[in-house]
Amino acid sequence: MAYDPENIFARILRDEIPSTRVYEDDEFVAIRDVAPAAPTHILVLPRHEGVTGPADLEQADAPWVGRMVVVATQVAREQGLDADGYRLVMNWGRDAGQTVPHLHLHILGGRPMLGLA
Ligand code: 5GP
Repeated sequence: MAYDPENIFARILRDEIPSTRVYEDDEFVAIRDVAPAAPTHILVLPRHEGVTGPADLEQADAPWVGRMVVVATQVAREQGLDADGYRLVMNWGRDAGQTVPHLHLHILGGRPMLGLA
């Protein structure tokens, strides 16, 4: 899939579309999901453009993808999710229900999530 720089998350990162930011640094922005699937539902977006989802990743991406996971755990902690737990989810493609073709990591918490689907 070719990366489309007009995708919703690229536009949110450029501040062309409003969002509620809960964290940002040089590499990542974390926003509240507009249609939360859990009481706390946050998306960690890499500012890096060009990766539509996990299936696009290459070995060279491993360092920043690793940092994205660590940032997600930091945001989850700041949101008070450490004690009861949370889920990190990265979707790829139709069967996973991916809707936005810019790599992102979901942080879901605030309710029990038993089972994987
Ligand atoms: P995916 O299904 O691609 O893994 O996740 C995309 C997520 O982005 C969905 O949970 C959806 O609710 C969220 N989303 C879609 N459009 C917007 C938007 O304009 N703003 C925000 N904050 N979230 C969005």
